[in-house]
Amino acid sequence: MAMKLHLGALEPGRNPVDERLSPERIGLDHDAVAGDVRVTGAVTWREDHAQVRLAVETPGRFVCDRCAEPFSRTIEADVHVVVLMEDPVPGDEDEDGVIYAGPVATVVDLSREISEAVLLAIPMRRLCRPDCRGLCPICYMNLNEATCEHAAADGGSDRDEGDPETDSQR
Ligand SMILES: [Zn+2]
Ligand SMILES: [Zn+2]
Repeated sequence: MAMKLHLGALEPGRNPVDERLSPERIGLDHDAVAGDVRVTGAVTWREDHAQVRLAVETPGRFVCDRCAEPFSRTIEADVHVVVLMEDPVPGDEDEDGVIYAGPVATVVDLSREISEAVLLAIPMRRLCRPDCRGLCPICYMNLNEATCEHAAADGGSDRDEGDPETDSQR
C-alpha cells in the first residue's frame, strides 16, 4: 500500500486531496509518530506536469529534554513536488522536489515524499513548553509542578543549570 497518485484520474486544474493514511501504509516508522497521517491540499494538473502541494499532519509523542515528562504535539510538514512526465536527465534522478514519472506513467507513489517530510519535521530539541523549568539538579523535583528549597534559594532566574538529565533516571 502507499499514497498513490493516479495520473489518469486527474482533472485539468486543481484536484483536491484529503486523505488519512496509517504510518505503516507509507513506510513511516518512527517512535514520535503516534497516529494517522492526514494529508490535505491539492494536485494541480497542467497538460504535461502535475504540481503537488500538500499539508501533512500527524500526532506526535515526545519526551521533554529538560523535565523528562511525556508530551504530545502535532507534527506538521509541507510537501511540494512537481511530477514531470518525462525521463530524468542522467544525474538528476534524485533532484529534490521533482519526480520524473516517465512519459507513459499512470501512477506516481508519493509515500516516500510524505514520510520524509514528516521525519524532517520531527524536532531535534524537544521541550514540553518553551520555558520548561526542568528538574532540580539536586533533588530532581519537577520545577514546572512545584518549587523545592534549592530552586527558591537562588531566586531562579537566569541560571545556567546545565543538563538535568544526568543521573536523573536512577
Ligand atoms: Zn519539560
Ligand atoms: Zn531541589
